[in-house]
Amino acid sequence: MISVEEAQQRVLHAVHLLGAERVSLRETLDRVLREDVHATHDIPQGDNTAMDGYAVRAADLATATADAPAVLRVIEDLAAGSLARKRVEPGSAVRIMTGALIPDGADTVAHVEITDAGSAVVRVFRPLASGTNVRRRGEDMTRGSLVLACGARIGPAEVGVLASAQKSMIRVARRPTVAIISTGDEIVDVDGVLELGKVINSNSYSLAALASAAGAIPRMIGIVPDTREATIAAIESALESDFLVSSGGVSVGAYDFVKEALDALGAETSFWQVSMKPGKPVVLSTLRDRLYFGLPGNPVSCMVSFHLFIIPALRKAMGELGDLLPPAVDVRLGGSLRSRGDRRTYQRVRVVAAGGELVAFPMTAQGFGVSTSMVEANGLAIVEEGITRIEEGAMVRTVLIGPIRS
Ligand code: AMP
Ligand code: MG
Repeated sequence: MISVEEAQQRVLHAVHLLGAERVSLRETLDRVLREDVHATHDIPQGDNTAMDGYAVRAADLATATADAPAVLRVIEDLAAGSLARKRVEPGSAVRIMTGALIPDGADTVAHVEITDAGSAVVRVFRPLASGTNVRRRGEDMTRGSLVLACGARIGPAEVGVLASAQKSMIRVARRPTVAIISTGDEIVDVDGVLELGKVINSNSYSLAALASAAGAIPRMIGIVPDTREATIAAIESALESDFLVSSGGVSVGAYDFVKEALDALGAETSFWQVSMKPGKPVVLSTLRDRLYFGLPGNPVSCMVSFHLFIIPALRKAMGELGDLLPPAVDVRLGGSLRSRGDRRTYQRVRVVAAGGELVAFPMTAQGFGVSTSMVEANGLAIVEEGITRIEEGAMVRTVLIGPIRS
């Protein structure tokens, strides 16, 4: 049995970079950028005003006070987007609106709040350091500079920067396709009749949702009965996808055929057991240039394995840069954790921001078949091998698998 860290390294090592495609700006959210993006212009294009007020020469305000204000002639009125025709000479000012370029001769903007807001003549009631309220040319982007690097995950701010760089079409990673197979004679699909002893196929749907959320395209292969032949046929039918994921059939039970099917197809298996709970049986194989992940059938085990192994693989395949593993942070425990101590255990917790720190509340049911314990769980608190109890109030290393709410 190998460690989780070793398994994650083997997974990342086995992943190939997928191709790219061009999409329009509006379609880039959550995609991985696959080109370097440079600024086409200085932004802002020139020095401009951050405030509504009067473009002035700071020297003219040097002695201004509330009782003896600087009195300046207003020679022009300037809206954002229009250019000044006149130059600000000593003793004069241009009324200016936020965003307008600073007229020649001026070096400072007296914001309207320190003036009498006059229109022919303006009184300014205090001095300002030269450059006050001026946004400098190129302070956001300078023409030709790299503003987004290949490998960035595109969020709302990146979309804005792409727009500023005048990119209407952008090269992004192709979405990986992920075939999803559920194995088990006892499994019936959502609309099926739930006879006694049968289990509803929830895994195909939770795994497909995880794949979509990670930026991939799930392909539902369906439910496969527990026979060698059916398992082989299902795997073969899924081989046009970039990744193959199955749930169930990977333990050492009499009806677990995934490993046998992979062997029969000539797959090269990298590992089939990882020292963790839930999810000890996890298979990683390479089959005709595809990666095959065989996850355990228990709904919690297969979701946890997807977070720890498959999401990093999808991110790498899309060319995302940076640390691809889910982040782990130390959080304070809002309840105690128990484990048998025989293997590292990942326990579902709800991490919240409370009292200026992160606090993890363990879900009450920690059974690996309890799919409802994944609802609201956004963290996996780690109880290391050999530890049987961690008390409330202690700090515990927690893998984040969802956003933190307050
Ligand atoms: P297995 O790993 O095949 O031994 O399956 C372990 C347990 O996971 C089974 O007894 C089922 O209760 C459950 N299980 C397997 N496949 C699914 C599925 N597709 N949806 C929900 N539960 C499942
Ligand atoms: Mg099974």
